[in-house]
Amino acid sequence: MASPLYSLVIPIFNEEDNLPELVQRLTVVTEAVGQPYEVLFVDDGSGDRSLELLRHYHQQNPQFHYLSFARNFGHQVAVTGGLNFVTGKAVIVMDADLQDPPELIPELLEKWQQGYQVIYAQRIARHQDPWLKRLLAYSFYRVLRRLADVAIPTDSGDFCLMDKQVVDLLNSMPERNRYIRGLRAWVGFRQTSLQFKRDPRFAGDVKYTFRKSLSLAVDGIMSFSKVPLRFATYLGLLAAGIALLMVFAVLYWRLFYPESPLIGATIITIAIFFLGAVQLVCIGILGEYIGRIYEEVKGRPLYTIKEVSLNS
Ligand code: UDP
Ligand code: MG
Repeated sequence: MASPLYSLVIPIFNEEDNLPELVQRLTVVTEAVGQPYEVLFVDDGSGDRSLELLRHYHQQNPQFHYLSFARNFGHQVAVTGGLNFVTGKAVIVMDADLQDPPELIPELLEKWQQGYQVIYAQRIARHQDPWLKRLLAYSFYRVLRRLADVAIPTDSGDFCLMDKQVVDLLNSMPERNRYIRGLRAWVGFRQTSLQFKRDPRFAGDVKYTFRKSLSLAVDGIMSFSKVPLRFATYLGLLAAGIALLMVFAVLYWRLFYPESPLIGATIITIAIFFLGAVQLVCIGILGEYIGRIYEEVKGRPLYTIKEVSLNS
């Protein structure tokens, strides 16, 4: 069999209702492109019939491969696992819920053939995502852009095409904390965007709960910025400044109004709470970084595999 020109990496977490439509649309698109390809579905510990379906699709079409994790490791790890196994000269990462339309694949490949190594799909419209999610996502990408050491493009998720060179670099990065859209920007090379309208999810529930999204957002900031640590320092300096002002205030009071009672209990209580809060916030920020160092140092494998349809 010819080695694939391009590979697709598609993370799957309980997507049994999307798989038939996805496979159908992928078949149409890949046939239209007409180049040798492989699809690697990464089953991220689904509890539904997803894996069963994937086995079935692999039997029907040997180009449709799957990799199945022994439990749920999360979207970013699923994509990382997929990238570890694919062999195409270009690799496209996309979601399984058809929010990332497979029909964009020819355009992505076209830009790749023009000489770009990374083409990230940038959403110009997020249909039907709840307004709060849109607002939070919008603000998050802009905050991240200000804080991060590298320019991480706004409004682009993991849907992208990467050249093999870039994929090899990602694979060689030992870090456990995989914020792929950040790492992708970090490597450099010729990058460009491809704008698209993000469709609503075809079927099934959103797998990214608010908690998972928040944790992804924190990961993004912590892995690509040391600004929070500096913020802790500034906060400490601010508290010191306020304390100094209060010393002068007290002296002034003592000198010019010796008769009147000094500061009341209220102000002392406020000061104690204020300092306590500043310290806890700073310890929390430190803790975030230390926790991440701890994760890295343990050096556990990123994922465990229970079943795979390809040998490499
Ligand atoms: N996903 C995954 N593991 C998870 C959560 C999600 O592999 O723990 C997959 C999911 O099956 C889908 C993609 O990641 O293919 C994006 O998930 P979702 O559509 O729920 O997120 P959103 O569209 O809100 O980014
Ligand atoms: Mg989705």
